[in-house]
Amino acid sequence: MINEYIARKVALKDMQPCAICSKPSTTVLYNASGPDWLYTCEIHLQDNPQFVIPLYSTEYNEAVAQLKLVKGKMDGLASAQNQLGSWDGWVTKIFSKKEKQKKDDSKSPEPTTTESADISPETKNDAEILLETQKQYSKILDKVTELQKKSRKYELAKIMFESRVLRKRTEQLNRERYLKEQENYSNTDPEDLLRKHVFPSVPK
Ligand SMILES: [Zn+2]
Repeated sequence: MINEYIARKVALKDMQPCAICSKPSTTVLYNASGPDWLYTCEIHLQDNPQFVIPLYSTEYNEAVAQLKLVKGKMDGLASAQNQLGSWDGWVTKIFSKKEKQKKDDSKSPEPTTTESADISPETKNDAEILLETQKQYSKILDKVTELQKKSRKYELAKIMFESRVLRKRTEQLNRERYLKEQENYSNTDPEDLLRKHVFPSVPK
């Protein structure tokens, strides 16, 4: 049995107690390789690594990687903008510099033109790129959120899965014993035997 469960919905009439809190639930985690299944409330599937860990699609993982990349670019651009300062900050800097220059004008007359020529067009361009990157970022973020919501595949936490495997084995032994009993007491009413050994039915 592999540790891969799909969260499925059953009809209201097929509701069964949640494996965690015993409240009736219509969500079932189904493992085709067992088969194994357990009912659970939707809420236990969210941010609950002691119970389940989501198994995301390749598409999701790729989108997350892309998101990280764009985030890095965005942070880089934002910090570059911060270093240069906002337009206001830049203007203030020039004025304070001019005032300072007025004070010691006689000592070192420095031209302020070089700085303004350096910053102006480049800053505007970077601001545009930053804005575009931010737009791109929120678009990918939407996609990631969407894919996250759509993902219904889970892996059970290690201890949880081990207990399921053990349970499965016990069930198997019981089944074998039942078949043996049936063989030994072929005269016994099979209905009687069935009543003694109730096997759970696969959720639909
Ligand atoms: Zn529950």
